[in-house]
Amino acid sequence: METIFSKIIEGSIPCNKVFENERILAFYDIEPAAPVHVLIIPKKPIPSMNEVAPEDLPLIGEIHSVAQQIAKDLGIAETGYRLINNCGPDSGQAVPHLHYHLVGGAKLGALVGGSSSHA
Ligand code: 5GP
Repeated sequence: METIFSKIIEGSIPCNKVFENERILAFYDIEPAAPVHVLIIPKKPIPSMNEVAPEDLPLIGEIHSVAQQIAKDLGIAETGYRLINNCGPDSGQAVPHLHYHLVGGAKLGALVGGSSSHA
């Protein structure tokens, strides 16, 4: 399925690239929700976490390694960050291509855990 992210991967839509290898691309989010907001995506067009297959697990692991390295490179490894995946309508997933938001660079409001989470 063609999405805004598949167009970014093929290069027909530009992005502000942070990292790229044969399997993974990372770039700054166009509407940052925090001082650091990077999207990390597999080049394989997996629509959402629901479609991640057992053979994709090394790729998902590599995304974590890439997130760890980007957090270090952008200076938020020690101050802290979140790696977020939105899956499906209730999460607000807008782009049907698996992606992880790496956000940090400021105190992040509690979403899960902390005082403002739902019981
Ligand atoms: P979702 O809501 O699906 O989890 O997140 C999609 C993210 O993609 C949003 O944070 C949105 O700002 C970002 N986004 C949408 N279109 C573009 C684009 O063309 N370029 C970049 N860099 N980010 C985009």
